[in-house]
Amino acid sequence: RITYVNGDYLPESEAKVSIFDRGFLMADGVYEVTTVIGGKLIDFPGHMARLKRSLGELAMAAPAGEEEILAIHRELVRRNELDEGLVYLQVTRGAADRDFAFPPEGTAPSLVLFTQKLAVLERETVRRGLKVASVPDLRWARRDIKTVQLLYPTLAKMEAKAKGADDAWMVDDEGLVTEGSSNNAYIVAGGKVVTRPLSHSILHGITRGAVLALTASTGIELEERPFSLAEAKAAEEAFITSASAFVTPVVSIDGVPLGTGAPGPVAARLRELYIAESLKRAI
Ligand code: PMP
Repeated sequence: RITYVNGDYLPESEAKVSIFDRGFLMADGVYEVTTVIGGKLIDFPGHMARLKRSLGELAMAAPAGEEEILAIHRELVRRNELDEGLVYLQVTRGAADRDFAFPPEGTAPSLVLFTQKLAVLERETVRRGLKVASVPDLRWARRDIKTVQLLYPTLAKMEAKAKGADDAWMVDDEGLVTEGSSNNAYIVAGGKVVTRPLSHSILHGITRGAVLALTASTGIELEERPFSLAEAKAAEEAFITSASAFVTPVVSIDGVPLGTGAPGPVAARLRELYIAESLKRAI
């Protein structure tokens, strides 16, 4: 595999960053994951807009302009002959003497990208639906910034797996669902799609934005409001969205089957529609 490290295209065995990199020492970095289908990038402008926002919220310098970042994505897809999978991008505040304070002005941010081959269109999880388990949301209070600080979501996912589920749904102090370990969460209740509104409590999913924009054209009613774990367990159906999962059905929560216990029709329709529409816009 060919990777990109601070200006160079390198085989992965030669792709190295400093042990003083603040991403490594302090999780002082942000990332984006863009899906590739047929060698094309899905929702790329959305991912770049969010990257810019994450950098801004952390007063981190942009490592390159959007055109250049697009060119690097394309070059990696080309060099790796990537048909279906993803491009991972990470920006950190760079390498400097370890100090909680930001490094001196002029410290270069570090930019790393790599590709991963992954089947995203045909997935077993879509046919059978996901089982999720609830866990308390113990992350920090700025979940809208896409930082590489992913320890808690990792622990949450492992806890869910230990319970025999596929993923975790995290729940805040008020018993309201925030989101999945690496995806946004939705239920269908009273025939309406219900999902938590944007705030500092959840990541502003790019797939979420695209899927919600599509619901309008389907006539499916949408309610952006928080929903409780109890309401979710009584829902007709549920699903998640993310760049690589697109729309994937959820069939049970904490062992409680939803609706018929099989993947639901709203999730299936939105998945099909999202894939068709995002492929039209792929670049
Ligand atoms: N929430 C969290 C916590 C995530 O990590 C992700 C994926 N990075 C998402 C939601 C989904 O975002 P997107 O649709 O942009 O992949």
